[in-house]
Amino acid sequence: MTRKKKPRLLLAIETSCDETSAAVVKQDGILSNIILSQDEIHSPYGGVVPELASRQHIKTIDYVVAESLAQAGVSLKEIDLYAVTQGPGLIGSLLVGLAFAKGLAYYFKKPLLGVDHLEAHIEAPFLENERIEFPVLALLVSGGHTSLYFLEKPLSYRLLGKTRDDAAGECLDKVAKFLQLGYPGGPVIERLARGGDSSRFHFSLPRMKTAGYDFSFSGLKTAALKIIRENGLNASHRLLRDFLASFEETVARALLENVHKALEEFHPASLILCGGVARNTRLRTRFSELGAGYGLPSFVPSPRLCTDNAGMVGALAWKKYLAAPVSTTDLDLDAYPR
Ligand code: AMP
Ligand code: MG
Repeated sequence: MTRKKKPRLLLAIETSCDETSAAVVKQDGILSNIILSQDEIHSPYGGVVPELASRQHIKTIDYVVAESLAQAGVSLKEIDLYAVTQGPGLIGSLLVGLAFAKGLAYYFKKPLLGVDHLEAHIEAPFLENERIEFPVLALLVSGGHTSLYFLEKPLSYRLLGKTRDDAAGECLDKVAKFLQLGYPGGPVIERLARGGDSSRFHFSLPRMKTAGYDFSFSGLKTAALKIIRENGLNASHRLLRDFLASFEETVARALLENVHKALEEFHPASLILCGGVARNTRLRTRFSELGAGYGLPSFVPSPRLCTDNAGMVGALAWKKYLAAPVSTTDLDLDAYPR
């Protein structure tokens, strides 16, 4: 009787939005994690153009996968498992990664696992810290999503609340676009806000009537645009720095309000902050301060792992595989936009 070989190497692919990424991941760590950003392509439009994103994924995916294998020092023949982001994201972009992963898994007759992009973001800090204690309260903040999750144990995701309108990253991007500061807006705002007086401008925010953990950022965006108009602010205005610092601080406060509330109700053992906006230093600091106030450790991925990346997809796929091994290539695996 031949014993089945234990899987050792997994290739993960992520194309949910505007990063083309591939990673070779072992059960206990990442061998490579290539991230190719499309920022330059979308920058002239001040936001991601879905059609351009999917076309760019088609152009670059084979190169990105080849580079991930080269950096890991392995060949496709050695890959035992495949994983791919199934959703949520831009449907055209998702389909590129999904078709590519299916093709490889089918040809090499290996299992293929579909992974949820948001759950993968929550996995990112585990790549750098094995000992994150459960239950976990996780705040995911990106260009397309703003959600709060409670995880009683690994792989159990309870969505406590999400944004009812704009995502926090989208709010930053739109205000930056309005001021013609460039794209993506979050990092530009962070750079230009440095040293600004964050108490200079006050944003009057509409209160959400229902209880719960949902977020709303469209009111904050409107309030920001109102202040910009009333004060005649523009990219070279002397109060721009103070305005951006105040705005950034308000975004952080709006995000942390729900975290604070959930801390009181759910009593987690650890806090996680993740997603593209988690690169923001002010938010990282405020988040850790909040945790520290409750004597709780906060885990925030290093900036590179906050960005969409296949490493986190591979790490989650391993956990899913170990919990429920699959042995076939599921060619019916479909992408979901939301
Ligand atoms: P993602 O959707 O996870 O790919 O993240 C992209 C979003 O993160 C965009 O809305 C960016 O503006 C935002 N972002 C990236 N870096 C920063 C930063 N340093 N501060 C605030 N937002 C950021
Ligand atoms: Mg992105």
